[in-house]
Amino acid sequence: DVQEPTNLNNLADEYLRLAYHGLRAKDKSFNAELVTHFDTSLPLIKVVPQDVGRVLLNMFNNAFYAVQQKQKAGAAGFKPTVEVSTETKDGEIEIRVKDNGIGIPDEIKDKILQPFFTTKPTGEGTGLGLSLSYDIIVKAHGGQIDIESLEGECTTFIIRLPL
Ligand code: ADP
Ligand code: MG
Repeated sequence: DVQEPTNLNNLADEYLRLAYHGLRAKDKSFNAELVTHFDTSLPLIKVVPQDVGRVLLNMFNNAFYAVQQKQKAGAAGFKPTVEVSTETKDGEIEIRVKDNGIGIPDEIKDKILQPFFTTKPTGEGTGLGLSLSYDIIVKAHGGQIDIESLEGECTTFIIRLPL
């Protein structure tokens, strides 16, 4: 696969909807609010679109899974929400994926990027998504992945790609 000038807003929007509709096809009772803040002046960026698309798809699937788990736990007045934003900052493009799902316990924060680390039951997760994401974003594109999470409250994944 080759690098090509890519509109990350379109890529993110496309995969967000793909992830949401994929989940809804399996679980008709699942509903989440999708909030997007796309920087309309975002420049095109040279990336391998299929690879960055896989990273985003995995992050969106993780986010929907996290809110679905919280919903199943019956949190009162809970409104599942997944927010995606893009912006240009200091010569980089920043993509943020935030969910108000189950969050990541501190004890596992430094393990989740490792290959095969998963907290999901067999068949629901391979634990390869984030390790592959690290390879694609950090090793292949010279970018960064940061994670902020409050257990039980919310999780934000921040992808930074140099322009
Ligand atoms: P998988 O989705 O197959 O488990 P990933 O590499 O995508 O593999 O994620 C690894 C683990 O990181 C997940 O099993 C989960 O424990 C944690 N995780 C990732 N994203 C989130 C999120 N948005 N909210 C809570 N936990 C998450
Ligand atoms: Mg995953």
